Amino acid sequence: MKKWIALLLASAMVLSMAGCGSEPQESSQAEESSQAEESSQTEESSQAEESSQAEESSQAEESSQAEESSQADSAEADQGNAGEESSEDAPTASEPGSFTTAVEGKLTMATNAAFPPYEYVEGGEIAGIDAEIAAAIAGKLGLDLLIDDMEFDSITEAVKSGKADLGLAGMTVTPDRQEEVDFTVSYATGVQVVIVTEDSAIASVDDLFAEGASHVIGVQRNTTGDIYTTDDIEDEGLGTIDRYSKGAEAVQALKTGKVDCVVIDNEPAKAFVAEVEGLKILETEYVTEDYAAAMSKDNKALYDAVNAALQELIADGTIQGIIDKYISAE
Ligand code: GLN
Repeated sequence: MKKWIALLLASAMVLSMAGCGSEPQESSQAEESSQAEESSQTEESSQAEESSQAEESSQAEESSQAEESSQADSAEADQGNAGEESSEDAPTASEPGSFTTAVEGKLTMATNAAFPPYEYVEGGEIAGIDAEIAAAIAGKLGLDLLIDDMEFDSITEAVKSGKADLGLAGMTVTPDRQEEVDFTVSYATGVQVVIVTEDSAIASVDDLFAEGASHVIGVQRNTTGDIYTTDDIEDEGLGTIDRYSKGAEAVQALKTGKVDCVVIDNEPAKAFVAEVEGLKILETEYVTEDYAAAMSKDNKALYDAVNAALQELIADGTIQGIIDKYISAE
């Protein structure tokens, strides 16, 4: 039935067209072709629009992804989904290649891995706050991290000579060191504290400076603990300083009675006291200080890139996140 209706309709159309002569046919052809043209133009222009939109949106996406990944580098790492957006794609602090490093493609960090929780050896690897911060900086700069473990008092020289790109070692900013190296912005605060035996007669920091005092003080060589006690105590005739290459060795000397106390940074102090029985940290603090990365004065481009990366990592909360992983709030 339907076929018949269709046929009827079709023949009615043919009849009516035939009745109008040839012109309408032409015009209908013209119409068709113009319609075809229009539609093909529309298609083209809509394709063009689409593709330009696609371009824009893909650019926008890329740049917003780049921004996100640069802002949330370590947040990603914390969440365990790092690596999807390669940090090499987001060199925000500086374009790779605009600076030189000790080893091409690497960021070489000089440290002394005997300073927990900032740097220590765990399972054959160097772990800790500074190691993670350096890795985050390296990631931002599109570099791989290389860690060079050495004596604390060799770090400045390694940085000055360009053997290492930065010294990251819970290092305190001091005027004397500032003559040798440039420091980045500070990323943490340290406090010099005094470790004593639980039965010690030394009850407060002031006892070390008291008239007639004559204590033997253990320190890690060339650290600020060494520098301050040398000035305040040894040079004042109020005692002597025993210098060790590692903080843990000074603490052992305290345990075995070779020294009367140890002056050292509070976080490693906590770690050492937790491991050695019979020791405590005096409540009074000696000095509060700022930790920063030490860099060469002769590689301004690298300094600027590292400093900018560190500032970004501070601003977006990455550094605090790393510190909080290792140091619980008191
Ligand atoms: N903050 C101290 C200093 O800079 C100790 C650093 C360290 O022993 N790694 O001297």
